[in-house]
Amino acid sequence: MPLSQSMRTHTCGELRPGQIGQRVRLAGWVHRRRDHGHLTFLDVRDRYGLTQVVTSAQQSPAAHADADPVRSEWVIAVGGVVRERPAGTANPDLATGAIEVAVDELEVLNPSRVPPFYVNEEQEGLDEAHRLRYRYIDLRRPQMQSQMLLRARLASSIRRRLEADAFVEIETPSLIRSTPEGARDFIVPSRLQPGRFYALPQSPQVLKQLLMVAGYDRYYQLARCFRDEDLRGDRQPEFTQLDLEMSFVSERDVMETVERIVLDVTRDTLPDRPILATPIPRLTYDQAIARYGSDKPDIRFGMELVDVTDAVRDTAFRVFSDAIVSGGAVLALRAAGCAGYSRRELDELQDVARANGAGGLVHLAVEADGTLRGPAARFLDVAAGGMIEATEAEPGDLLLMVADADRPRAAGAIGRLRLEMGNRLGLRDPNTLAYVWVHRFPMFTWDAALARWDATHNPFSAPVWEEADRLESDPGSVHAQQYDIVLNGWELGGGSIRIHRREVLERAFRLMGHTTERMRDEFGALLEALEYGAPPHGGIAIGLDRWAALFADQENIREVMAFPKTQSGSDLLMGAPSPVTDVQLEEVGLRLVDAAAR
Ligand code: ASP
Repeated sequence: MPLSQSMRTHTCGELRPGQIGQRVRLAGWVHRRRDHGHLTFLDVRDRYGLTQVVTSAQQSPAAHADADPVRSEWVIAVGGVVRERPAGTANPDLATGAIEVAVDELEVLNPSRVPPFYVNEEQEGLDEAHRLRYRYIDLRRPQMQSQMLLRARLASSIRRRLEADAFVEIETPSLIRSTPEGARDFIVPSRLQPGRFYALPQSPQVLKQLLMVAGYDRYYQLARCFRDEDLRGDRQPEFTQLDLEMSFVSERDVMETVERIVLDVTRDTLPDRPILATPIPRLTYDQAIARYGSDKPDIRFGMELVDVTDAVRDTAFRVFSDAIVSGGAVLALRAAGCAGYSRRELDELQDVARANGAGGLVHLAVEADGTLRGPAARFLDVAAGGMIEATEAEPGDLLLMVADADRPRAAGAIGRLRLEMGNRLGLRDPNTLAYVWVHRFPMFTWDAALARWDATHNPFSAPVWEEADRLESDPGSVHAQQYDIVLNGWELGGGSIRIHRREVLERAFRLMGHTTERMRDEFGALLEALEYGAPPHGGIAIGLDRWAALFADQENIREVMAFPKTQSGSDLLMGAPSPVTDVQLEEVGLRLVDAAAR
């Protein structure tokens, strides 16, 4: 790519044998320096690549002298002539590896202190706090650059694709009134109205619904969202989501439109990566839990859960019979060829089961003669045939079983074991992209601590319309028109058809324990807007950071964010959060209670 700038004629990734003999200027960072006395080799790097340049004591004494103090990460500009590398020194792994630049001008644009780590160091060896503290150096590393560029390509593809489909990009404000998504708000004190606060949006949910009332029909935004919650690998206090909303649509319309967009954007951004299945498979929530023990199943591999409750109903094994008598379930997983697992491996699996809510794990190896071996085998003899039939197990396989009075808990634990086995057996092919839709979630979940129903997802989600008359009489049986899109076992995004009638929304809120007063206080604007011609509408939000991380094969979204925060919410580079002055506090009418906390 020709850059029309005087400091450089080419980028560091651009020169090829076709330019041999040309006079060029390059500018960039010194990646590596090799001193051969009369010759100095410098690898000059920019975000486009790396070019080897050479100064010579004989042929270019001035430039050679100028190269003398130059060290890693100094910023230099060089001028010289492109030439073929001497025979045997070409580097086929480098795009510019056939040539070098014989330099006769070298200007130091800016020296650098010795960097805290080198840009060519392997990421695994680097301390993450160090990387975040010197993020501008970390971001120079080719791996980070390719991840940031991949993210940019993804965002650009999304925009192009949505615009081609008549979506309108509309920005919504960051200083708003609370829009809850189940997390704590970040709040911002108002100076002009001391004692009052803005909330940073947990999502633009209410605003995008208001845009539908306003007639914008198809809205989208790459929206920054803020949620004050404990951080995990795939969470950050602020993150970006592709937020969209559509009018005059059913659940099917939104899912189909989003599916086309997601697949097009994926093929556009990663043309070489296989997509497991198209159209994207759809599972109801109940199917996902029954088959995979998870509402975000990784469908890159099978190993589905098997319900063996009936097969083991009549055994004398208390762990199983107690669970069954209490209305629970016994769920099994067939790990093909794992009958030889060692004591240690089995203990590790036991730990995974326990850490995920199971009381314990029962394991049985299938012997060559079809009998079962394991600590509980003698109690389960009578059920061996039934279990083998249900799981389709063969000699050499290992059966893993969890029993629990609470079926969802058993499913959750065995679902985690399934992922663990998927990892151990290398079944989760990192190259494959496996999207799956999960929909028909229960509309409400019973919150035992608060003794009330709570929205499983979004309080604005509509019930399946045919079930709406059961809202009061049997809320637990009502499903929401809610859909999640899952990629390789990560919840990539979720959305729903919204309740567009005020009285229905009020009914749903009342069920969730809202008084009329609280409804007006928290959602007054939306409730009122619904009375002024709100069309039926629905949408979705897809986590851009997660999407980019999955595309870049990274487990942590920090790896695809330019300036992420640490686990404790700190920005190590800029030093945030930080104290503010007494004057600033006074301006917003605040006084800190605990002076020591400052
Ligand atoms: N507002 C929802 C969220 O942030 C997404 C949606 O329902 O559109 O999760």
